[in-house]
Amino acid sequence: MRFSKFYAPTTKEAPKDATLPSHIYLVRGGFVEQNGAGLYNFLPLGKIMLDKISRVIKEEMDEAGALNVDFSVVTSAELWRDSGRFDVFGKELLRFKDRKENDFVISPTNEESAVAMVRGKVNSYKQLPLNLYQINTKFRDEARPRFGILRGREFVMKDAYSFHASSDDLRREFELMQDVYGKILTRLGLEYKAVAADSGAIGGSGSKEFIVLAKNGEDDVVSCNCCKYAANIEAAKRKPRVTDAAAPEANAAKFLTPNAKTIKDVAEFFKVAEFYCIKAVIKKAIYKEYQKAVVFFVRGNDELQDVKALNACGALELVDADENDVKDAGLVAGFCGPVGLSGVDFYIDNELKNANNMICGANEIDYHYVGVSVSSFNDDRFKDLVSVNHGDRCPECGGVLSVSKGIEVGHVFMLGDKYSSAMNATFLDQNGKAKPFMMGCYGIGVSRLMAVMIEASHDEKGMIWKKQCAPFDLMIVISNMKDENSVNYAQNLYQELKKCGINVMLDDRNERFGVKINDYELLGFPYALVVGKGLNDGVVEIIKRDGLEKSQIKSQDALKNIKELLC
Ligand code: ATP
Ligand code: MG
Repeated sequence: MRFSKFYAPTTKEAPKDATLPSHIYLVRGGFVEQNGAGLYNFLPLGKIMLDKISRVIKEEMDEAGALNVDFSVVTSAELWRDSGRFDVFGKELLRFKDRKENDFVISPTNEESAVAMVRGKVNSYKQLPLNLYQINTKFRDEARPRFGILRGREFVMKDAYSFHASSDDLRREFELMQDVYGKILTRLGLEYKAVAADSGAIGGSGSKEFIVLAKNGEDDVVSCNCCKYAANIEAAKRKPRVTDAAAPEANAAKFLTPNAKTIKDVAEFFKVAEFYCIKAVIKKAIYKEYQKAVVFFVRGNDELQDVKALNACGALELVDADENDVKDAGLVAGFCGPVGLSGVDFYIDNELKNANNMICGANEIDYHYVGVSVSSFNDDRFKDLVSVNHGDRCPECGGVLSVSKGIEVGHVFMLGDKYSSAMNATFLDQNGKAKPFMMGCYGIGVSRLMAVMIEASHDEKGMIWKKQCAPFDLMIVISNMKDENSVNYAQNLYQELKKCGINVMLDDRNERFGVKINDYELLGFPYALVVGKGLNDGVVEIIKRDGLEKSQIKSQDALKNIKELLC
């Protein structure tokens, strides 16, 4: 490709709202341009990368026996009513009506379409297993689209849906897809962690996320320093915390605690560790047809984990309760405790089960109970509610856990029969009995991966593409377009490299050398070959983008040297 004929409108200006390198460089490098909140056009360089990433994914999915399909992006609401998700999916689901007043959605995910593709057509266990995948546009009306294409509203995803006659076969495919994801990410030059995850709005019995560790990531990943345990913070477990601190001594006695509203106040008032105080977190839970206050009780030195809390109460959404919500529920802010609490939904963290010598609010202004045992509650009140922290103990080996930032690039789910049962999609098993399909689904963010590759590899000048997967392998930079000798040499080398299958761009623009080098450093192809004054002495320069190391080579050896570097 000749840069003079290409379209990569590079600029020095970073988008105003951009904070992450991937967002800044993809826009400055003319890979993508914003078209509205969370909406992006892909320019030629962006499209080249989308296609390259898609090709890697397609090759690995095909190799694993999955079949490529395309589901329509606009889907009839009927299908979503069939699964029961039309009304319960949050505002991310963009719903609209056509001219005949029929409801439609723009697909945020395609479980329903996949079930409809096999329902009534795959009738026997003999036709199973089947794994159907697409690489296609998704739309999610994200509450906070940000970071450029890392969290867009419209984005490209590879999503696959598998159908099985048994849970064992589903598990086999689930493992296979994890291997496939590992191969894809390795081919893209990314280091990743596969971690236990929450299944979110997609549902099912088990899921794993593929996370690329990056300091700008939005996900918190918990991992053990001793064993292989790793989990997203939303699903992370730990060994129950213990303490050496002395417990308060009293027998469920009620104490006047004037103005002691926070855990800190209460712990100071009684001179005990926060470990022995029960913290009440009051939230407003939003259900399909109503909303109400829900109280979550955790230890004073713990934090409520929002996703765990949402799963515990089964609401569509949890928001902070305001003064009126608290008052309407008959709760006493600052003095709320589980003992004697009635008329309101509440959940207690598992680690408080059978805890003794605790202090909690007495549901009365300025009073707390001291020496409470958390033992007289039904089992279904107890849920895993707390956030795991740095220094907590591993649930599997007792090692020390640490928390790091990462970006989710893929998510694989064992759905089981959640969708096939809801949508009445069955096959006949070996005994001629109708059974719902066992299903898995497997997503990977194609457009997000492009940004992640930059988050994982860049410097203060621009992107640094790895040679495994880059828009171009090499840029030939002609430093002076007026020098006929340089132009002839560069054009000749360009043709030779193309013949060898090397993906090369020739910067033959009538621009100053400084402009060309800045653009090269911004666009970040793995190598550059600079044809400058040294050519008269038979010398050209190779630049390795990672580290910007420069080396002089003989101009007659350029073809051989570049082939060695790239092939
Ligand atoms: P997140 O927690 O980041 O919102 P998710 O759990 O909603 O992701 P999935 O439903 O599992 O994501 O979708 C599969 C993959 O699609 C994700 O792993 C991610 O790579 C990609 N993806 C999801 N949402 C977006 C988005 N808004 N923009 C770009 N890619 C996305
Ligand atoms: Mg999401």
